[in-house]
Amino acid sequence: MNSKWLPINEIAEKVNNGSLSATDMVDQALKTIEQNTEYNAIIVTTADRARERALQIDKLIKSGTNAGMLAGVPFIAKDNFLVFGAETTAASNILKGFKAPYQATVIEKLEAAGAICVAKANLDAFGHGGSTENSDFGPTLNPHDKHKVPGGSSGGSAAAVVLDMVPFALGTDTGGSSRQPASFSGCVGYKPTYGLMSRSGIIAMASSTDTVGVLGRDVTDVAYVTECISGKDPLDSTTIESDPAGYMIDKPLKDLKGIKIGLVSEYMTDGVDPDVKNKIEETAKQLTALGAEVIPVSIPSLSLALAVYYILVPAEISSNLSRYDGQRFGYSDPNAKDLDESYTNSRTRGFGKEAKRRIMIGTHVLSSGYYEAYYKKAQLVRTKIINEVHKTFQSVDYLIGPAAPTTAFELGSSTQDPLQMYLADIMTVGASLTGIPAIVIPAGTVSGMPVGLQIMSPQKSDKSLLEVAQLAQKEINK
Ligand code: GLN
Repeated sequence: MNSKWLPINEIAEKVNNGSLSATDMVDQALKTIEQNTEYNAIIVTTADRARERALQIDKLIKSGTNAGMLAGVPFIAKDNFLVFGAETTAASNILKGFKAPYQATVIEKLEAAGAICVAKANLDAFGHGGSTENSDFGPTLNPHDKHKVPGGSSGGSAAAVVLDMVPFALGTDTGGSSRQPASFSGCVGYKPTYGLMSRSGIIAMASSTDTVGVLGRDVTDVAYVTECISGKDPLDSTTIESDPAGYMIDKPLKDLKGIKIGLVSEYMTDGVDPDVKNKIEETAKQLTALGAEVIPVSIPSLSLALAVYYILVPAEISSNLSRYDGQRFGYSDPNAKDLDESYTNSRTRGFGKEAKRRIMIGTHVLSSGYYEAYYKKAQLVRTKIINEVHKTFQSVDYLIGPAAPTTAFELGSSTQDPLQMYLADIMTVGASLTGIPAIVIPAGTVSGMPVGLQIMSPQKSDKSLLEVAQLAQKEINK
């Protein structure tokens, strides 16, 4: 990908030594955003606050202080992160007007390292979707073809990176929302081990699979950002310690000798676009040429992952969305006669179709009489999937496959058919349900549209996953 941005570590180094200014970096980002408004990747900029922070950073550096590992590096956050400087809407009408009272932990960490948030990216409202068409701000367009979707739900973040607005963007990933748009739009999308990055200050979708997603041009940058934002957070009890070895790729791998990689058969079925399959097979050969042993592996229960996901995730969503009742945040019907009417009207008008669909599915599978048949059974199958995946990692070090069965589809082609839309997640939900880290890297194009290779590894092996992905990206795109 051609980019006008230097590698992230170099930007920070040059800002710190005074050969670049944070103000110029912010201006460059805002200018590129302005030049690409037609893609609708951005909901709102945080221009004023960004310029102020840039000035402060430039001043600090002039006074001889180092401004941090990300000094002056501009970034964009998906609009489900609480960030100062603009409203936080999660792309839903029900949150219009809501201003964050505090910032997400990962945003605080980025700021502490000197990074500057310049804008909030578009998404499927609350993260519900795989195309960014479920946004109350209108769809984002694919940077390679304006008639196609960028993927979702972090489609705005992926498009922002590919349109070169910023060197990296934050997304979230509950069932593939950073990986699938990376595949459709042509950038790197990484979902860490569940708990490696704090969820505090991120609008909850499904708490047992929600993670931060990091989107960038290359794995080296993504690893560098990971170094700055991972680790335990007292505000999120599910967080884990980061790897004491860190995540930066300071000694890139030279080959993959001695590494065993499983190509997941369940992700290479006849339902997958033959051209996508060919691409993935080609990349498998390239990994073999690097010295890896690539063998087909079967994880039979993965074929149940999508069904399990679309029971458990709506159940968690229905609980998480109950806090938006027109009384505490965002939109509230100003003319309601009483509290009941206020609840009803605020939620009826504020939530979009997909949120309502998921609230209904979620409350249904949790209701007495159906709980045993759906929710409980899905939990049992989730455990079976987790056990099978762990067992597979006893015989291979990594798993690979496509990130989605097709390349980006036409805008509007799946919006009337939720089941069709849910199928776009079939290859990403497995890693979410099992909590393992997964990364998507660009693996060439089919008819001009990007294809992504997904690489997965055991829980907490993020460092080696990033190292392998870095070498794979270099080899595949050389
Ligand atoms: N597309 C999936 C869904 O709609 C994943 C969303 C996500 O990861 N936020 O649930």
